Amino acid sequence: MAATVISGKEISGRVKDRVKKEAEACLAFSRAPALAVILVGDDPASAVYVKNKGKACEYCGIRSLEYRLPADTPEEEVLSLIDSLNADDTVDGILCQLPLPAHMDEKKITNAISPDKDVDGFHPVNVGRLYTGEDCFLPCTPAGILRLLDESGVSLAGKRAAVVGRSNIVGKPVAALLLSRNATVTVCHSGTPDVAAVTREADIVVVAVGKSKFLTADMVKPGAAVVDVGINRDKDGKLTGDADFEALLDKAGAITPVPGGVGPMTIAMLMENTVKACKRHLRLG
Ligand code: NDP
Repeated sequence: MAATVISGKEISGRVKDRVKKEAEACLAFSRAPALAVILVGDDPASAVYVKNKGKACEYCGIRSLEYRLPADTPEEEVLSLIDSLNADDTVDGILCQLPLPAHMDEKKITNAISPDKDVDGFHPVNVGRLYTGEDCFLPCTPAGILRLLDESGVSLAGKRAAVVGRSNIVGKPVAALLLSRNATVTVCHSGTPDVAAVTREADIVVVAVGKSKFLTADMVKPGAAVVDVGINRDKDGKLTGDADFEALLDKAGAITPVPGGVGPMTIAMLMENTVKACKRHLRLG
């Protein structure tokens, strides 16, 4: 039987519709939620991400403040912009689009954002809270992955999950979230001698490696749920994920496509985090 294709487009649409209602409630109570996005330099992929975030804000009724700075902006200038946004009571969320130019220290910039405005969930305070199970801003891509699985009826408790990739923004936090939901989780990385031996045992496979068609059908157990996080371009410039989608359609139980899977969820969760920050700031609900 062909795998169910999990539509991030549809699920993210529902999330954004809910966010829109909550943003309306914030506005009726006091003011619209506001998200400040800082873009330093002219990385084309970053520019596309920022544009898409702006569009999502517009749809949801979130006020979007964009700060586009030239690539040679001194680090202190970005830090002082963050300081002023931290102090601004009308700004709920702040994010600095990564990657930053080489002369900037990404950790220093990320850590300068106030944890209660850190809607990307990258600040060490929020990372720590995620690991200790406290309320926090969850990082958007991992949160989006869990939401996709939940909304598709994929149960996690008692299941074996394999996460391929251990980055701080995807692999590690998604593993922590799966663990918090009582899955038995194994994390693979470039030093794992036999990744396929791990993924073949898993009921849920999350692949976040950044290599086109890395996860082949022979690496997956029949009926497993596959979440493809990768964003790659093939030789013809076509967007591809990390999984061999066509081959896995006949093997997996459920699979997320690229595009239209995890990508739209990442932005939807950013919108959700921004409204959550606003409700907290307004002490609303
Ligand atoms: P990173 O490059 O930071 O991490 C890649 C991970 O894959 C590393 O942990 C690396 O291991 C591991 N890896 C590389 N080669 C292998 C291998 N042969 N076997 C096992 N593990 C391997 O990438 P990100 O986590 O930031 O992103 C992963 C992909 O997801 C990218 O394509 C990115 O564009 C995409 N992405 C998509 C998002 C979305 O919204 N859809 C959001 C964020 C990312 P090691 O640690 O040992 O080097």
